[in-house]
Amino acid sequence: MILTELTFECFDNTTVDAVDRKLNGLMDALRYNGQVLGREFPILMQDGQFQLRVVCPDEDALQPKYHSPQVKRALQQLADACLTQPKVRLLGRDLNSEQAAPNASPSWQVLYTTFVHTCSPLRCGDTLLPIPLYRLPATFNGDHKSVVKWQTEWQACDELQMAGASDAEFAGLNEIQSPHTRLFQRGWDLRGRIEYLTGIPTYYYQYRVGGKDKDSELTRPCPKCGAAWRLDTPLHDIFLFKCEACRLVSNLSWDFKLT
Ligand SMILES: [Zn+2]
Repeated sequence: MILTELTFECFDNTTVDAVDRKLNGLMDALRYNGQVLGREFPILMQDGQFQLRVVCPDEDALQPKYHSPQVKRALQQLADACLTQPKVRLLGRDLNSEQAAPNASPSWQVLYTTFVHTCSPLRCGDTLLPIPLYRLPATFNGDHKSVVKWQTEWQACDELQMAGASDAEFAGLNEIQSPHTRLFQRGWDLRGRIEYLTGIPTYYYQYRVGGKDKDSELTRPCPKCGAAWRLDTPLHDIFLFKCEACRLVSNLSWDFKLT
């Protein structure tokens, strides 16, 4: 991912409050379109200009051809706070984060995230590299807000259950593990929408931990259709189960090791 600096100049007197509102509106719009990642964007004020550092999925992320109607509107509204259009400077590759998938059609893709990942939750099935959301046609209402919101909630549940320090642990785990929860249903519906829009088979990831013993976990059936769905070897060292009919993948319960 690419660390990028955005600079906005003031062309007339303005207030910090107005600038703050317009810049945060723009960052929200960019985030909900997958053009910037993360949720916190410190704004530096210096000599009549404002600077933000953001992480973008790829070098071309802020090109106008990817802008959603929401981003275009937020850019137009900068003038209301007497701000110029942003100057964009690429600072370099962020060593802590993954590179984006090449811009090609994968044979399959998967909606997969964890609480430590800030990148796109849509992954190339062939390489598991993240596919920037702005490259896709809008999922709903002009951008990908519904996917970003789903990811934020999934990660919150994952963080709670990984921490294991509160009663919320089991509630969080249930949301990402049980096919009957609203979060699971929403994610599964989103993968269907993405499959429809891209024409690429798109899977949803079921998180799995616990279980009685290794043998019963190895023969665990697909949670949707009940069919056998185990693969010979895990894909990307994660997905040991894959149901083509239900478009689901899952791991061997993290309580057990394959070998
Ligand atoms: Zn199935």
